[in-house]
Amino acid sequence: MKYIYNLLILVCYFVFINNNLISMDNLVIEKNHGFSIKEIELINSQADNIPLRILLTTDKKDSIILRTSSEYLEIKDNNIDLDKLIKRLYATVNDSASLGVGIAAPQVGILKRLILVQRFDKMGEPFEAYINPKILKYSEKKQDCREGCLSIPNIMDTTKTRSYAIMLEYKSPDNSYHIEMVEGFTAVIFQHEIDHLNGILFTDRLKE
Ligand SMILES: [Zn+2]
Repeated sequence: MKYIYNLLILVCYFVFINNNLISMDNLVIEKNHGFSIKEIELINSQADNIPLRILLTTDKKDSIILRTSSEYLEIKDNNIDLDKLIKRLYATVNDSASLGVGIAAPQVGILKRLILVQRFDKMGEPFEAYINPKILKYSEKKQDCREGCLSIPNIMDTTKTRSYAIMLEYKSPDNSYHIEMVEGFTAVIFQHEIDHLNGILFTDRLKE
């Protein structure tokens, strides 16, 4: 009887330790955050179809934000602000004044790990939103790619260090978790946009 009792305590102890580790992981490694009050104000300042202002490297204040790492984004059940931000990022990247194939939230002043990427590898080439994207593996094979950036006016150049293929993990806006292999030009867009989440610009990659 005493043996069973001890075993039970041991099992309970393990469950306790394990649970603690899981919550420690979320707390220490991911540090998920919701939007700040200022960010919510910015997101809701205009209608869904109105583009947000793109931050530029030519502006000193903007430049500091573009060089800052973004926080992990907590996806809540009621995603009104997230849905609206995705719609406004889409309006921004589709605007004739800032037409692009991808955009990262820090480019509009929201330092959260959210990007929109045009999927040239999918039928209809849709824009899709990715939350907390992370590249798990890079192919050794590289590709040359002519790149530009909405935040860097009048500069286009060829990067030579982008991996041809990447293995990616991310969450969709519905909070579902995915791991995916992406290759070719779309893989470059992901690498470019995820760099933005770490305060890295494509012009840094030209020096590699
Ligand atoms: Zn860019």
